[in-house]
Amino acid sequence: MARPIIAIVGRPNVGKSTIFNRMIGDRLAIVEDRPGVTRDRLYGIGEWLDKEYSVIDTGGIELDGDNEILRSMRVQAELAIEEADVIVFMVDAKAGITPADEEVAQLLFRSNKPVVLAVNKVDNFKRQDEIYEFYSLGFGDPIPISGSHGIGIGDLLEACAVHFPEDKEEEYGEEVIKVALIGRPNVGKSSLVNAILGEERVIVSSEAGTTRDAIDTPFERDGQKYVIIDTAGMRKKGKVYENIEKYSVMRALKAIERADVVLMVINGEEGIIDQDKHIAGYAHDAGKAAIFVVNKWDVVEKDDKTLHQFTQKIRDHFLFMSYAPLVFVSAKTHQRVNKILPVVDQVAEQHAMRIKTNVLNDVVSDAITFNPPPTDKGRRLRINYATQVTVKPPAFAFFVNDPELMHFSYERFLENKIRAAFGFEGTPIRIFTRKKS
Ligand code: GDP
Ligand code: GDP
Repeated sequence: MARPIIAIVGRPNVGKSTIFNRMIGDRLAIVEDRPGVTRDRLYGIGEWLDKEYSVIDTGGIELDGDNEILRSMRVQAELAIEEADVIVFMVDAKAGITPADEEVAQLLFRSNKPVVLAVNKVDNFKRQDEIYEFYSLGFGDPIPISGSHGIGIGDLLEACAVHFPEDKEEEYGEEVIKVALIGRPNVGKSSLVNAILGEERVIVSSEAGTTRDAIDTPFERDGQKYVIIDTAGMRKKGKVYENIEKYSVMRALKAIERADVVLMVINGEEGIIDQDKHIAGYAHDAGKAAIFVVNKWDVVEKDDKTLHQFTQKIRDHFLFMSYAPLVFVSAKTHQRVNKILPVVDQVAEQHAMRIKTNVLNDVVSDAITFNPPPTDKGRRLRINYATQVTVKPPAFAFFVNDPELMHFSYERFLENKIRAAFGFEGTPIRIFTRKKS
């Protein structure tokens, strides 16, 4: 089920990134601690009362070489209006209402998107009267919060959750593999879609364009059904921000949420930049299967080491996604484009794979015998049994004497043993520990 998207909009320095970090909590601390993931993320996943949401800090995205606050804010607001389910409009209690706030309020007001007004820096809750002036912005009750003290975050999330869309019915059947192509502008996403659809064995469904969601492209190959998500969004170019790398990523978020398999398209000619890392990190956090598709391989000057070197570069940059296979292609010459769908099939299968509990426990007890769990202050972690609790992505619950005793490195060891035994190529896997003695 796609997570609802919350976008935070507001002037610089009102505390957006502070609140963003509060909203994604420490659930993703494991990923963040790994080398290769930059800390200044703009997209994260949080959880409130068992409901997951994704959140975007639009402020982290600045117009390159453009210091004009108002223009930046306008673009942020437009993006939030287009992509988010709920907009958190953040203002600063200490600064009061500024002309830039008013300008953004106008834009948001006309959008008809749900807006939650958050007044940050209300550090002393005895002084809640600081929020009254913000009623004049016209978004109903302002919610007092303090990012630095972590106050009011629950109230803020509650106000957002009111506007989360009802769980929508699955748009496509379980048997349909949903694919999203993600990457910076000009890496060749549209060209790749055309190259894939132009393959001999691919039959583009005649319903294309008439399905409930006309922006998607359904097709079939050897009896397997697929849909490429958000094809129209990918082709809809020309808006100012479409050409600005950092902005184009926002649209990708929604496509990732709806997909089973994410094709991370990288321009073989240019290499990798941080923004690629942000978006790949999001796909990882969202639990999607992933494939690195290195495009424009036709223009890369090659010798016998090039492939190996490029592979290594990707592995170094995306340490947290060592499970994702690589395909080197050219949308222009169609070189190896026919390899993409077979790899999609493969990772989709692994993403949905379920391991029987007894088989899993055989592997786990072998692993424990080989490398016994660590002790902490004289107490040893005891793993009683493990079971797979979900697919897409595969998640495993380990029932242990005390979850506190499970260390990151031992979790990694168990993950590696599970991968060594069962594969799970192309998919992240999750491990939870639960107390049960
Ligand atoms: P952004 O530019 O909107 O993302 O703002 P930041 O999150 O970077 O915060 C800007 C500044 O405000 C930083 O110095 C924060 O420490 C400070 N700040 C954030 N939240 C609060 C708060 O609740 N109270 C106070 N007093 N300062 C805060
Ligand atoms: P998108 O913005 O990611 O959808 O990228 P496009 O599909 O629009 O491609 C951007 C540009 O790169 C276009 O001029 C394409 O013709 C070109 N291009 C796409 N794929 C390849 C490729 O494999 N090799 C070469 N040489 N050019 C390509």
